[in-house]
Amino acid sequence: MLAERPLREQNGRGKFNLLNARTRKFLSYYKPYQRLFWADMACAFVVSVTTLLIPLGANAITKNILAGSGPDTLTQIYGMGAIMLGLILIHTLGNMFVAYQGHMMGAMMEHDMRRELFDHYQKLSFGFYDEQKVGQLMTRLTNDSFDLAELFHHGPEDIVISLLNFVGAFAILISINARLALTIFLFLPIMAVYAFHFNKKMKAALRRSHDRIGDINSQVEDTLSGIRVVKSFTNETVEAEKFAGENGRFLASRRDTYRSETYFYEGLMAFTQLMTVAVIVFGGISIVKSSLDLPELITFLLCVGILIEPIRRYGNFTRLYQEGVAGFTRFMEVLEVQPDIQDADNAVELDQVKGTITFRNVSFRYRNDSGYVFHNLSLAIKAGEFVALVGSSGIGKTTLCSLIPRFYEVNDGEVLLDGTNIKTIRLDSLRRSIGLVQQDVYLFAGTVVDNIRYGKLDASEAEIVAAAKKANAHGFIMALPDGYNTDIGQRGVKLSGGQKQRLSIARVFLKNPPVLIFDEATGALDNESEQAIRDSLEVLARNRTTIVIAHRLSTVRNAQRIIVLTEEGIDEQGTHEELVARGGTYASLYNMQLSL
Ligand code: ADP
Ligand code: MG
Repeated sequence: MLAERPLREQNGRGKFNLLNARTRKFLSYYKPYQRLFWADMACAFVVSVTTLLIPLGANAITKNILAGSGPDTLTQIYGMGAIMLGLILIHTLGNMFVAYQGHMMGAMMEHDMRRELFDHYQKLSFGFYDEQKVGQLMTRLTNDSFDLAELFHHGPEDIVISLLNFVGAFAILISINARLALTIFLFLPIMAVYAFHFNKKMKAALRRSHDRIGDINSQVEDTLSGIRVVKSFTNETVEAEKFAGENGRFLASRRDTYRSETYFYEGLMAFTQLMTVAVIVFGGISIVKSSLDLPELITFLLCVGILIEPIRRYGNFTRLYQEGVAGFTRFMEVLEVQPDIQDADNAVELDQVKGTITFRNVSFRYRNDSGYVFHNLSLAIKAGEFVALVGSSGIGKTTLCSLIPRFYEVNDGEVLLDGTNIKTIRLDSLRRSIGLVQQDVYLFAGTVVDNIRYGKLDASEAEIVAAAKKANAHGFIMALPDGYNTDIGQRGVKLSGGQKQRLSIARVFLKNPPVLIFDEATGALDNESEQAIRDSLEVLARNRTTIVIAHRLSTVRNAQRIIVLTEEGIDEQGTHEELVARGGTYASLYNMQLSL
């Protein structure tokens, strides 16, 4: 099983699997569209056969013309003309089906893949996203799968049409004049070697260009997400330079791609033209030597035209195939990442959670190559207790709290909720029991009411308003232009930090979980917000286990127990008075804040 690790790392060993597991996966996307697929193939077959029949008709007509101009001959020419017209009609209909339904089939398969990847993205855990760039992940979902849609239907069509045309044209040529046919077939091995060589170059170049477009997306995503910081530091030029770097690398990769594509395509085209010249020259010689007649030469030339078509299609197919494989590889790299935090097979559902939280000898580090944030930490929090977590910045307060909803897996020891190891609790059940107010609140695009309702999707209007009132948010919401229906824009930029935090408190009121984790905003809140948040926290904390990562004296003082974290783990715990009297770490932190 692949664990969640940087994607590149897995890439190396995934490479050779391409022919088995990944190919099977690739083929599985055809399954729901089998009937459409076979209809598409049948049409491709019809297209190919009609293509071959047309030169035979031309052969018959020219033979008749040369034979003389009796009334019989004219009727035959009319007849052949009518048949050819019919063939063209069938040919066109077949082509139309392939062009429309074939493309739709590809698009539907792409749609299925996208859904699968999106679902997968939602399963991957925090650890995965810590390592990934959103832009790259977006590219995999959008660009890469589109390349595949093309391959999905053009691939099989091209194979069918090319193979049939090739074999058919070859048979016709041999039957007309074997020696001339073999002459032009001498070109084929040379062309194969040539194609193989540039094919390999094309493949490598395409892979690079896929990665580079992902880099561009990451860069844009980064700059635009931080556009406010960029502007406030007037660092637009720095960002432009970073972008120019990515953009330039992408251009270079496109250059490589086009170069190899040009050699590949145009080289093959030149060979096919050489074939035509060879036919005319050797055909002419044969006519002079009377081993070939004119209608045969015309048919021959038409067939060489048909022979060129599969070669062109082969070139096209190769490009599609390379792009598709590059896209599919990138797609599978993510899809093959197993979420490292999943329900255990026998995971249990917890109901009536009381909210006892126990850390038993917990050790944790973010990565195998980084230092431990906690070593052998033990802590017991009673149901309904109000605990404040204090300690200097970067000491691990947020980390400690993110272990409870199992955002990260402990390396050693266990975390228990109501005495049950959280590893054996179903994730949805566990996370439903925990309410989280984060330091920087994320608000989704949409209205105020949508964002509050996120805490309980089936909440009524009345419940939402009640929650907002309890969160002390009702007042400012009503002052917004459209009240609860105000569109707050992406990331809630139109609200202040304190207002956003109050919305997120309202969400948790709606959710009404037995356990609350509250990461107090570190930044200075306006006085009104601070007072409002403190009051609503007090209400919110009633009848549930509450852990507050506290930065304000007012919050700390209200706590039943204060836990002081230092490098060594839990340094001391007790009430405010006890800890001040003890004269330890907390007392000095407290005195420092007082003096501010
Ligand atoms: P606090 O909340 O006490 O300020 P954190 O829990 O955020 O501290 O961080 C504790 C330590 O873990 C810090 O050294 C920080 O750099 C590191 N850390 C925090 N989040 C991550 C992460 N997602 N990946 C790797 N290291 C992290
Ligand atoms: Mg923190």
